Amino acid sequence: MTAIRQLTTMLTLVIAALIVTTASVASPASAATASTSRANSALHSVVPSAWRNAIPSARATRLISGKSSTSAYRKGIWVSRYHAAKPMPLLRNTMAHEFGHHIAFFYGSQVIYGAAPTGFPQGVTSIETWADCVGSALSGVSKHGTNVKKHCSRTGLRWTKAWLKKGPAAHPRTDARIHW
Ligand SMILES: [Zn+2]
Repeated sequence: MTAIRQLTTMLTLVIAALIVTTASVASPASAATASTSRANSALHSVVPSAWRNAIPSARATRLISGKSSTSAYRKGIWVSRYHAAKPMPLLRNTMAHEFGHHIAFFYGSQVIYGAAPTGFPQGVTSIETWADCVGSALSGVSKHGTNVKKHCSRTGLRWTKAWLKKGPAAHPRTDARIHW
């Protein structure tokens, strides 16, 4: 009986410890829960409405695993859980970056899939640099994704800000003549 009681006590302690551990892991005070709605809230707060209205398909449509978010013509923005749980300033930067790819799909030079608009000073085929510039221009946060080899320059940023400020109506719509 004594042995059984001791075992029961031990098990109770182990179970208690597990519950404490689980609870502390499951509800850290500061981490946000990744969701497409959180990503779309970030998008709303960072991209001007004129641009969002011009490209309604450019919104978070799916949550994916891994650390990379991705965009495809008319498929929306697939946001990684990693990005979607980031603090809001970083998530806004990610969503603005991805929106930049969609601007390229619809208003880009179409030299290649995702090419920047005609005149982009860092080269229209530098598709990640263009998105990097849009991310910085709209969010005010200069944070580069690991796939952005050539970062947005001061010249690139100035040009992109001026181009965006004119609004979608000021630019020819090219609608991804080249796409997947
Ligand atoms: Zn990108």
